[in-house]
Amino acid sequence: MADARRRYLRQQIELGGPEVVISRMSFPVPAEAGRAVKVNARPHWQQGAPPIPGDGLTVEPPTALIDTEGLVTLTTLDDVAARIRGTFCCGLCPARKHAVPGEGDPRARLVLVGEGPGATEDETGRPFVGAAGQLLDAILGAIGLDRKDVFITNVVKCRPPQNRKPLPDEIASCMPYLHRQLEIIKPKVILALGGTAAEALLQKKQSLGQFRGKVHHYGDIPVVATYHPAALLRNPNWKKPAWDDVRIARQLLEQ
Ligand code: URA
Repeated sequence: MADARRRYLRQQIELGGPEVVISRMSFPVPAEAGRAVKVNARPHWQQGAPPIPGDGLTVEPPTALIDTEGLVTLTTLDDVAARIRGTFCCGLCPARKHAVPGEGDPRARLVLVGEGPGATEDETGRPFVGAAGQLLDAILGAIGLDRKDVFITNVVKCRPPQNRKPLPDEIASCMPYLHRQLEIIKPKVILALGGTAAEALLQKKQSLGQFRGKVHHYGDIPVVATYHPAALLRNPNWKKPAWDDVRIARQLLEQ
């Protein structure tokens, strides 16, 4: 990208302008733009970041649910992953090539929760490795994080056919695994990617618009809801509001 265009984009970003969308996988700053920042300057994600909004919903993690599934006996993420891979818990499981339990740092301070594996994830057994995953990597990079620093997982661990939304009974069967993963990791912040993740975590059916713009709590862990990366690929105009959401989550990590 030409220097002049890079300077222009950088200016727009600092002004909080909407023109930060430049290509499918950039979010929202080209990596090179960071090099223009002075050594002692604040990280670029902090510049023009929105204030942390007020509190939204609070839910208690359903410990009883985890107990009844016998998951309390699983003390590591690897144990949980092995259980997921070795169990058929709902109608999605028989058709899977691979279950996708999640991956990342078992001591992650940030956990990202998506909806469910797609085709590439089903092929590989890894979360967010298709097109949406590449954008997610760019989102993480824009707030100074790498996927190995966080833990990435989904509401359901097996691919829904034709990538349809998981059904309520499929979500209900799979959620104990996510609850147990969160209980083991004890992250500082949770980022819900899309309405399905926000609804499942916060146990309330409402639109993503109603979840956004507030800091919810899962027990004492703050939850920020934002657009699913696949939605951002379909509608790049949502990248700017998503950039605000992830910067809110990033600031909560710093607190
Ligand atoms: N979409 C999701 O919600 N999760 C993935 O792992 C991949 C795509």
